[in-house]
Amino acid sequence: MMTKEQYIESLRKLNLKVYLMGERIENPVDHPMIRPSMNSVAMTYELAEKEEYKDLMTATSNLTGKTINRFCHLHQSTEDLIKKVKMQRLCGQKTAACFQRCVGMDAFNAIYSTTYEIDQKYGTEYHKRFTEYLKMVQDKDLTVDGAMTDPKGDRSLGPSQQPDPDLYLHIVEVRKDGIVVRGAKAHQTGAVNSHEHLIMPTVAMKEEDKDYAVSFAVPSDAEGVFMIYGRQSCDTRKLEKDADMDLGNSQFGGHEALVVFDDVFVPNERVFMCKEWDFAGMMVERFAGYHRQSYGGCKVGVGDVLIGAAALAADYNGVPKASHIKDKLIEMMHLNETLYACGIACSAEGMKMPAGNYQINLLLANVCKQNVTRMPYEIARLAEDIAGGLMVTMPSQQDLRSPEIGRYVEKYFKGARNTCTENRMRILRLIENLTLGTAAVGYRTESMHGAGSPQAQRIMIARQGNLENKKELAKVIAKIDESKNVINK
Ligand code: SF4
Ligand code: FE
Repeated sequence: MMTKEQYIESLRKLNLKVYLMGERIENPVDHPMIRPSMNSVAMTYELAEKEEYKDLMTATSNLTGKTINRFCHLHQSTEDLIKKVKMQRLCGQKTAACFQRCVGMDAFNAIYSTTYEIDQKYGTEYHKRFTEYLKMVQDKDLTVDGAMTDPKGDRSLGPSQQPDPDLYLHIVEVRKDGIVVRGAKAHQTGAVNSHEHLIMPTVAMKEEDKDYAVSFAVPSDAEGVFMIYGRQSCDTRKLEKDADMDLGNSQFGGHEALVVFDDVFVPNERVFMCKEWDFAGMMVERFAGYHRQSYGGCKVGVGDVLIGAAALAADYNGVPKASHIKDKLIEMMHLNETLYACGIACSAEGMKMPAGNYQINLLLANVCKQNVTRMPYEIARLAEDIAGGLMVTMPSQQDLRSPEIGRYVEKYFKGARNTCTENRMRILRLIENLTLGTAAVGYRTESMHGAGSPQAQRIMIARQGNLENKKELAKVIAKIDESKNVINK
């Protein structure tokens, strides 16, 4: 496995093409707006080195028998699925941000099981290719951007109906030695901190969409690949001088980018689906299921930090004993643990796939994510309620440090007895960061849209919920005789 330092050095060796605010960035690793997000991924390496976290952060590879980082693992049991969620909660607690590496892990497990089933039907060799690819990823301990979401253009039209054919990533040429692809993947979590991009289709497809049914992997600095970095609320604070306090979380963050594939050649050994349109939906459903499980871990870990920050804000405001504050904190914990319970439940109810790895219970994973589209918003609302308006009206670190006015900031923003003004400002800025600032991308909007928007889960819940069976149960209890309905017609 790589150490944290080796991971950082390995990124420096990549020749990434990254654009940020209209300019090509020569050194993404040390860029002040990107670096905190890289530190979050680095945490997945650092924790794996620590004895106390080995059980959660590492696993034994079923492919090689070696000890690997769990982020590269194919889950071998329901216990593995549960440990995955616990690992994500831990990483959320340590970074208070999106640590990005889960998308690769979720893609590995979805592609591994789907390629097995494609090969069963078509006699192809995708599963063997993917297994070889994953062995390389595990041995090198790589971070992989599992990429699903296409830009999608006009949402009322399918991939092959779009006026611009590139709005879904597609195959433009099939050669003897590989394929050429064109298109883009949007909202790519951690793309700039990844060694590889691992591509999957974004929707179930029809036969006319077959050029869009494609899965493959390329190095993140492959010819023809470039990335355009996504903006975040308050992101340029990271460029300011003496803004450590104002950032709320100066060490960690997350990021998303648009990854463009401008006629990229992919050699055959890295192609894992090529026009098998009838398997696109399966791959999407499985990846989405795994990532919806993931949110029952990562968002809970970040929620732990936010609840802690709200409780500290109450302490510093001098109101920790107020009954309504205590009740709000209880409510926040209740909501947060409800999400965790969903993450654990869909894992405990997981099952072995034909390929041999374990998959979560899809219905419960979708229920988990549906709750994530709501509960973090309520937790954030309560945190803002407890924090008070000062969270968004207080002056800057530079004002606090100013020889001229610093003592006024110190005096007028002091809270409870024995509380230092700086600490009070720091904790309020952390709440601001998580609810309105750069980390709000990960904690709020991503809770809504990441791993699929709420409606996507409702479709899956409708499909998996087995309503007919529930009707039968009710009929038996109520002694319904269906033949009477016919007679009454
Ligand atoms: Fe991992 Fe959560 Fe970020 Fe997805 S949103 S990559 S599950 S930390
Ligand atoms: Fe996500």
